[in-house]
Amino acid sequence: MKFKINNNTGSPVKYEKEVHSLCDFAKERLGFQKPPSIFLNHDERNAGNTLGKTGHYDPNTMEIHVFATGRHPKDILRSIAHELVHHNQNENGQFDDMGYSGKGYAQKNPHLRNMEREANDPMLFRDWEDSLKEKENTIYNERRNRKMSLKEWKNNEIGELLTDKWGFKMDLGKLNEAKEGKPDADGDGIPDYAEDEDEKEKSEEGEGDEEEESEEGEGDSGLSAAQKKLPAGLQKAIKAKKGKK
Ligand SMILES: [Zn+2]
Repeated sequence: MKFKINNNTGSPVKYEKEVHSLCDFAKERLGFQKPPSIFLNHDERNAGNTLGKTGHYDPNTMEIHVFATGRHPKDILRSIAHELVHHNQNENGQFDDMGYSGKGYAQKNPHLRNMEREANDPMLFRDWEDSLKEKENTIYNERRNRKMSLKEWKNNEIGELLTDKWGFKMDLGKLNEAKEGKPDADGDGIPDYAEDEDEKEKSEEGEGDEEEESEEGEGDSGLSAAQKKLPAGLQKAIKAKKGKK
């Protein structure tokens, strides 16, 4: 089915493919026959309003209007999923004779309250999201994209968190070097007892990680392709670690 997307945001819509995919999925799931028109709108003032409007559906014109300014694409898509349920309700005649639709309709009108509850069921969106990730794993799965081992990914994540929190870069590869015996065997100024987290992480990792790394192939440097992408300090630490084996 062809869905018409009207981009009124003033800039290109990078998630157009996903909008079409979501509409197709909703049509299959809900069963509506006529395609609604989708409008992606720009509204600076509404974007700055914490409880501003995110979108609405017009049952007379079968138009879905969504405010797109300053919002995460996933949030916009979630709004579209909500309005697609209203579109389906419209085709089923649920907007005919709908009764009170003024202020507080979601609390005062049981019929509209039910329709709203149905549109707010998160599983339509979730099932679509999961099905898309299943189909196109390489595009939507960031970790796989970057060909990182679990350990590298974990170290990067923790490293970034520490940088955010303390404002300096922590070299986790070096922390892993800590040896028992001396209070600060690796000489990084942090006594080993304070490095418990990393020691724990090390023992949890087991042998699977090592295999994962060697699969990626090692060059003259003795580092895998993924390891070569790490900061110089970490690369040095990994080389030193290998040397000791
Ligand atoms: Zn609604």
